[in-house]
Amino acid sequence: MAYQAPIKRVLISEEQINTRVKELAKQISADYAGKKPLLVCILRGASLFFANLVKNMEIDCTIDFMSLSSYQGTASSGKVRMLLDIRDDIKDKDVIIVEDIVDTGLTGVYLKEMLNARKPASVEFCTLLDKPQNRKVEIKPKYLGFSIQNEFVVGYGLDYNELYRNLPYVGVFDETKK
Ligand code: 5GP
Repeated sequence: MAYQAPIKRVLISEEQINTRVKELAKQISADYAGKKPLLVCILRGASLFFANLVKNMEIDCTIDFMSLSSYQGTASSGKVRMLLDIRDDIKDKDVIIVEDIVDTGLTGVYLKEMLNARKPASVEFCTLLDKPQNRKVEIKPKYLGFSIQNEFVVGYGLDYNELYRNLPYVGVFDETKK
């Protein structure tokens, strides 16, 4: 039987994601020409987006990984905890934080403050998805894949209790089928 994930509908198809990710990689490559930015993947949600973005980059860049936790089920706990830090010193480096989704903005603000304390040359955000209606703090990602309504989504790295990250598209989660 075909694999049936508990989604109400596909919100963004794999094809739409691939097209947009290529555009973002092109834009970032142009903006950072002559520099060697460090792209930081925020695990685990950004993993698929990150791999796609990195392989489309057209300039030298380095990569690293960071893991944070703030969500339980479909609600943000509001408290961000660091589970894994990046390996290298970021002093004087151009850092691009790659996220799956910006929702309340609390994770982004936490990250920005923490990384800025390490005196990088610059810190920018690149996110696959943005839910601007749910913001609690001011944050505007410089690079944005898609702006979406305030619905809980899964797929393309995004989970519900660690499941459905494997879906090749972004879909609206159906809580009645979980
Ligand atoms: P923020 O701190 O901006 O509220 O939340 C950012 C994190 O919340 C994201 O990295 C993601 O893990 C989680 N998140 C926010 N909205 C959604 C959503 O619709 N679906 C999933 N799966 N995670 C979300």
